[in-house]
Amino acid sequence: PLTTASPPGPRDNNSRFDVNDLRSQFPILERRIQGHPLAYLDNAATSQKPRAVIDCIQRYYLHTNANVHRGVYQLSEEATRAYETSRDKVQQFINARERAEIIFVKGTTEAINLVAHSYAKPLLRPGDEILISTMEHHSNIVPWQIICNQTGAQLRVIPISDVGEIDMQAFGALLSPTCRMLSLTHVSNTLGTITPIKQMISRAHQHGIPVLIDGAQAVPHLTVDVQALDADFYAFSGHKVYGPTGTGVLYGKREILEQMQPYQGGGDMISQVTFEHTEYNELPYRFEAGTPNIAGVVGLGCALDYIQAIGLAQIGRHEQALLAYASEALSAIEGLRLIGTASDKAGILSFVMDAAHAHDISTVLDQAGVAIRAGHHCTMPLMSRLGVAATARASLALYNNQADIDALVAGLHEVNRIFK
Ligand code: PLP
Repeated sequence: PLTTASPPGPRDNNSRFDVNDLRSQFPILERRIQGHPLAYLDNAATSQKPRAVIDCIQRYYLHTNANVHRGVYQLSEEATRAYETSRDKVQQFINARERAEIIFVKGTTEAINLVAHSYAKPLLRPGDEILISTMEHHSNIVPWQIICNQTGAQLRVIPISDVGEIDMQAFGALLSPTCRMLSLTHVSNTLGTITPIKQMISRAHQHGIPVLIDGAQAVPHLTVDVQALDADFYAFSGHKVYGPTGTGVLYGKREILEQMQPYQGGGDMISQVTFEHTEYNELPYRFEAGTPNIAGVVGLGCALDYIQAIGLAQIGRHEQALLAYASEALSAIEGLRLIGTASDKAGILSFVMDAAHAHDISTVLDQAGVAIRAGHHCTMPLMSRLGVAATARASLALYNNQADIDALVAGLHEVNRIFK
């Protein structure tokens, strides 16, 4: 069993990592699917929620619910405190310099759109360039295409190798004087590749190019320190890090956020409104127009408490051990090819099989209670670079164990038996 006693690291704790104990904290894992125990391996799409987070949201609605920042009465003050405490937790979680640099949004997608519209669009001139990589999720492609179409700027793409690693030489050559922004995934949702973002941010900065990091797939697995990385923007989604859907974070350096105009107007983001003129609120509120997802943000704060109590270093070690176990087991399956074998990888396994299409693989696995994702994973350009229409993808979380992988492997043998 994957029970490891590990020395404490930075922002780690020294308790034992007991996967079975952790599993018991996720009520949905008690479900049976098609008569089998649920082996939930679609964590890159969304993670399951521990009871601590579910209870926290319920407690909020049972005892605290009111609108924030407005009421001068106890309940509203308590709701505001709960919401703003989550901001402190996020600040600490990614080691931002100050809480004003944390903007709550509904997910990574909204965070990237915010930067594209409020930061990049006013700067862009015809002929300017936005640089992304071949491995980006559609949400780190399409917002840039939209503003390129509106401004006459161009999208440039860093190539990758066949195993799914950034071509660093090509990257260097693409850092041109007309490049205005680099927007890059920290971890590929399709391949699991961990991109060398620290080095890439530093090289972009040597050319005066600001950098946005899409951390949607990184924060559940890696310790993120935005100051050590020197990221200008860092985006992630709450629902992939054991928090509720409809929550997300945009971190931005204060000096950059201060130069930006909001792209959504409404309540809460103002300090003074007349029909002639509006004064915007201070950071971070000027980018949070309208009533926010208060209960969700409170739940996100609980999710961050939850994973920090376990320790990201411990979670990372557990997932890496399981990734090694799964990679070896999958490689031994006849006619199966792993897609994306970068040397630095998070717990994501994409694969194709000679015998069956990804959707057929997923359907057969579902019969055995194994939930994986099949398709293009919102990375169609990456699929076309790799020459595959679709892959099957198993992605790991802290509660996965060897039994989940064994169920996956047994299901894949069944795929071969049925289709070969
Ligand atoms: N970026 C990456 C790498 C992702 O994996 C995802 C979600 O799958 C997103 C962005 C978009 O996140 P959301 O749909 O939560 O906004």
